[in-house]
Amino acid sequence: MAGRVLIVAGSDSGGGAGIQADIKTVTALGGYAMTAITALTAQDTVRVHAIHEVPLDFIQQQMRVCIDDIGVDCVKTGMLSNGRVIEAVVEVLEEAHPRAPLVVDPVMVSKGGSALLSPEANEALKTRLLPGLATVLTPNIPEAEMLTGMRITDLDSMKVAAGILLDLGPEAVLLKGGHMADEHVVDMLFDHDGMELIEHERFSHGNTHGTGCTLASAIATGIAQGLTLRDAVLRGIEYVTEGIRQAPALGKGHGPLAHGHAIPPYP
Ligand code: PLP
Repeated sequence: MAGRVLIVAGSDSGGGAGIQADIKTVTALGGYAMTAITALTAQDTVRVHAIHEVPLDFIQQQMRVCIDDIGVDCVKTGMLSNGRVIEAVVEVLEEAHPRAPLVVDPVMVSKGGSALLSPEANEALKTRLLPGLATVLTPNIPEAEMLTGMRITDLDSMKVAAGILLDLGPEAVLLKGGHMADEHVVDMLFDHDGMELIEHERFSHGNTHGTGCTLASAIATGIAQGLTLRDAVLRGIEYVTEGIRQAPALGKGHGPLAHGHAIPPYP
């Protein structure tokens, strides 16, 4: 079976982001989700109340047993907490033959403002996870600013930042424009062959908890199912956009996306 996705990420007890969003997304898009949980969060729609770390060797064991027994068509990484977790994950990814494509969502700060990656881990992400391993990196604007050290204020600076990120070693960068103040959202897909702008609808409500996790997992599912990166990205954006449109108003903060809605077949 194609479509086997190994998700290496954190759990969100509130069900809106993290592993929970990842499993819903992969399943809704017809893939098969496996998980290596890197951290447990006690989290609701307002904020992350507490984080419980998972031992490094147990993170690795979760990955290895899935890779060895079931097999993996694409890996997606989300919350990796700190540099030690990144090193442990890289070690397992490097020992796998053949290596599966890898979607890296550089999860850094939650919408409620909680740090999900320690500042010291920025370097490990850039120097260990991206070069030679990452198929696509999917930062939002604040994450791209933290990774490049530059301010991003418009399409021109997005392009410069995407170029800097591409030079770190991923095969492609999807720089998400949702944090810009434009009327529509413009995402930028950037690789060594060129750049494509993908414009889509912006919604005024704040029920967008888990959008980043959902998009990265949707892309990983598409790649695992044999779609081109471009088609996987376009389908993923369509799935997330519809998920925001249909988002239920749950909780007192940023509610979660809807899942399971039908979108047109791709390609
Ligand atoms: N919690 C976990 C475990 C996550 O992996 C993420 C992912 O990005 C978040 C929270 C943040 O989600 P959001 O910024 O959409 O609220």
